[in-house]
Amino acid sequence: MGVPDEKVDCIVIGAGVVGLAIARRLALEGREVLVVEAEDSPGLGTSSRNSEVIHAGIYYPKGSLKAQLCVEGKNALYRYCEARGIPHKRIGKLIVAASDAELPILEGIRTKAADNGVADLEMLSRADVERLEPE
Ligand SMILES: Cc1cc2nc3c(=O)[nH]c(=O)nc-3n(C[C@H](O)[C@H](O)[C@H](O)COP(=O)(O)OP(=O)(O)OC[C@H]3O[C@@H](n4cnc5c(N)ncnc54)[C@H](O)[C@@H]3O)c2cc1C
Repeated sequence: MGVPDEKVDCIVIGAGVVGLAIARRLALEGREVLVVEAEDSPGLGTSSRNSEVIHAGIYYPKGSLKAQLCVEGKNALYRYCEARGIPHKRIGKLIVAASDAELPILEGIRTKAADNGVADLEMLSRADVERLEPE
């Protein structure tokens, strides 16, 4: 079998969210890009089977690349969705202490979140939580 006599600037292997984002960026910069995908169409792997959460950047260690990129990426994704009318909801999330002994863990999470620039965490009482989620 001969090698096809065809040339492109870049090949991206895998049409998940990461491969597609890289391919898009390369294409916007004027490069010819070929995306190679093993499945029948893009996004059939992990990218379409995740929990669909836009993570806040609460848990990652202060100063880590994960913390920095999660917060930057979250803001970029909200801007992207808003600019293109892509439906999304900022529903927030409840992190629950199941006993008084776990309250210091919640405080620790709040501190870590603030370290990462995520400042909009709020302490709720049991009654507050029941009003938000009666079930
Ligand atoms: C259970 C679960 C829940 C998650 N929840 C969230 C969440 O709520 N929020 C969030 O932000 N992230 C979440 N993630 C993480 C997120 O889904 C992944 O980080 C992201 O989808 C990875 O994208 P990817 O493009 O790297 O990989 P993938 O989506 O896996 O894409 C890789 C692609 O490459 C193709 N491929 C592989 N090998 C080859 C080959 N040799 N030749 C051609 N094609 C190939 C595959 O078919 C696939 O389409 C979750 C992950 C998991 C597992």
